[in-house]
Amino acid sequence: MSTKIQDILNKTDFSKQDIVTLLNTDKNERQFIFNKANEVKKEFVGLKTYYRGLVEFSNECNKNCYYCGIRAANKDVNRYDISDEQILESVKFAYENKYASVVFQAGERDDIEFIDRIENLLKKAKQITENKIGITISLGEQSLETYKKWHIAGAHRYLLRIETTNKELYYKIHPNNNKHNFEKRLKALEAIKEAGYQTGTGVMIGLPFQTYEHLADDLLFFQKFDIDMVGMGPYIEHTETPLYEHKDILLPLTDRFDLSMKMIAILRIMMKDINIAAATALQAIDPIGREKALKVGANIIMPNITPTINRENYQLYENKPCIDEGAEDCTTCLEARIVIAGDDLGYDAWGDSPHFIKRQQK
Ligand code: SF4
Repeated sequence: MSTKIQDILNKTDFSKQDIVTLLNTDKNERQFIFNKANEVKKEFVGLKTYYRGLVEFSNECNKNCYYCGIRAANKDVNRYDISDEQILESVKFAYENKYASVVFQAGERDDIEFIDRIENLLKKAKQITENKIGITISLGEQSLETYKKWHIAGAHRYLLRIETTNKELYYKIHPNNNKHNFEKRLKALEAIKEAGYQTGTGVMIGLPFQTYEHLADDLLFFQKFDIDMVGMGPYIEHTETPLYEHKDILLPLTDRFDLSMKMIAILRIMMKDINIAAATALQAIDPIGREKALKVGANIIMPNITPTINRENYQLYENKPCIDEGAEDCTTCLEARIVIAGDDLGYDAWGDSPHFIKRQQK
C-alpha cells in the first residue's frame, strides 16, 4: 500500500481531498480501504446483517425526477396500488420469517387520503405483529405534522434520499420547480429528524456530470448531518427517462459498481456505527453485488417481499433483479449468500442504528 493511502486510513477524520484520493485508488489499493472498512464494521456494528422486508406498495407518483422510470410523465408504466390487505399479508410474512423489520415504499403523494391511509396501515401492521415489527418508511417529502403522525402510528425509521448534495447537479437530475426543490428536500430531512425518526438518506453514484468532489461532499454531508442510516448505490439508467439522453457520458456500469463499493467502504470508516444498506441496484450490475457490499461495510439488506405480480412495474431503473422471485425464494437464496459473505443474520432483531441510540443519549 502506498504511504499516502496508509496515512489517510490512519486518520480519524477525512478531508475532502482525502476522500477524493481514496475514490481514485486503483484495484490493488482499494483492497486496503475494503479491509479497513470490514475491520471497522466488525468492531462497531458486528459482522451481522439485518433484514428489512421491502414492500413497494404503489408506483403512483406525483413527481417527475429525470432519472426515474415511474415518474408521473411516463405513460408507459402500468400503475398499481396494492390493497392494504395484501400489504399486511407481506408484513405477516416478514414477521413469521423473523425479518423483524419491514420497509414501506411508494411513489410520492401527499394528499389527505394517502396520509390517513398510511397512518391506518402503520397501526394495523403493529397490531397484527403484537407491536413487534419494526417499520421504516420511504414515502418522500411530507410536512412535519405528517412525519409526526406516522411516527406516532408506528414508523420509527425514515429514508429520504437526497440523491446528490450538490445543488447544481440536483437540478440536472430534477426539474427546478416547487415540487422538486433542493432546499425543500433538505428541510424535509431535518423535519424527519425533528419528528424523532432514525433518519436515513443516500445518493446515486455515477450520475452524468457527477465528479469525485461531488461524491466526497456527499459523504461529508452525511457526517455533518449526523445521519443514522445510508442507502446509496450505482445510478442505472432507464431508457424512458429524460436523463437517458446523457447515456454517452456515463461511466461503464462496472466502474459505477466499483465506485459504489468504495463509497460504502469510505463511509463505514468515517461513520463507524451507522446502518448502511447494500442497495439492490448493486445486484442489478453484479449478481452477488449486495454480498460484496456486506464485506466492505454494509450491514442491511432489503429483500423484496412485494407480491411478485407487481414487482415488474416498480422499476426506477431497468434490469432490476429478483422481480419474478417469490418472497420465500428470496429468503432462501439470500440467507445462503449472506453466510457465504461471512456475516451472521440478525434474525428477530430490529437491528437499529447504534449511532441513533447514542444520538438519543446525547
Ligand atoms: S424517484 Fe421517487 S419521487 Fe421521483 S419520480 Fe421516482 S418515485 Fe417519484
